[in-house]
Amino acid sequence: MRRIGLVLDPVFESHDTGDGHPKRAARLAQIRALFDERGLPARCVAIRPVPASDEMLLRVHDAAHIRHVDTAFASGERFLDSMDTAIGSESARVARLAAGSLVSLCDEVADGRLDSGLAIVRPPGHHAERDLAMGFCLFNTVAVAAASLKARGVARILIVDWDVHHGNGTQHIFEEDPSVFYYSSHQMPLYPGTGYAREQGKGAGTGATLNVPLRAGEGDGPFLSALSDALAPAMKEFRPEFVLVSAGFDAHRDDPLGGLSVSTEAYASATGIVRAIADESASGRVVSVLEGGYDLRALAESAAAHLTALL
Ligand code: ZN
Repeated sequence: MRRIGLVLDPVFESHDTGDGHPKRAARLAQIRALFDERGLPARCVAIRPVPASDEMLLRVHDAAHIRHVDTAFASGERFLDSMDTAIGSESARVARLAAGSLVSLCDEVADGRLDSGLAIVRPPGHHAERDLAMGFCLFNTVAVAAASLKARGVARILIVDWDVHHGNGTQHIFEEDPSVFYYSSHQMPLYPGTGYAREQGKGAGTGATLNVPLRAGEGDGPFLSALSDALAPAMKEFRPEFVLVSAGFDAHRDDPLGGLSVSTEAYASATGIVRAIADESASGRVVSVLEGGYDLRALAESAAAHLTALL
């Protein structure tokens, strides 16, 4: 049996975005309840939440942005940068815990103490730009983790982003970096409006961004073939040493924000394809972090299918 690290802690429910907000904390409580019911945490190694340091955040964010996130609530702001990103008194602390915990989980895997891992954290991260909070995201958690792996000498990192929304922040942060390959499949047209197939990276990073826009209602077929027929062949050349997954589950057919009509089972199949890529060149190292997913039941079931397929 593989050694899987799991970040799953009630502290991530204390990022209070207010009643009725789609990022509401109940999402995590539902995942915890279903994981417990299935006995999943007992099969994993619990990773304790730790805050990201300034040094970690500064690898992908401007100092002014970090200061803004840290001080916004105390200065009376209830939304960060735009009206879609509500914050509460604990949001900055919890966002630091999300990023720091993912770094810690990646370190355990990179050091060989664990084989893979999953971080069930919030707020999400993939829309956060170097200098801007956006789309419920304060810090770009997956980017902080990728930058931290780079800093410890991992030469090639793949980020697989199968959230229904394009991860504009992650793409922009690494678009000129040939050592971080960013893959995204996402519904288009949809928020945030980026992620055209012609966006393939810039400068030295040209070719290290792969966007696969999908149309609403397309279902499992195109969602999975984007991974098996577009990403997998590209990875034979790139040969990642470590695979990160921006695991949003809002492409699910029951999701109120997304419309891609993906099934719960497809997330297990997608996990299998990503594991096969990781087995080829990354010693099987896959670490996932929760992004979106707004139907409580579909989110919990899909996350459970993903974790079960990692085990
Ligand atoms: Zn999303």
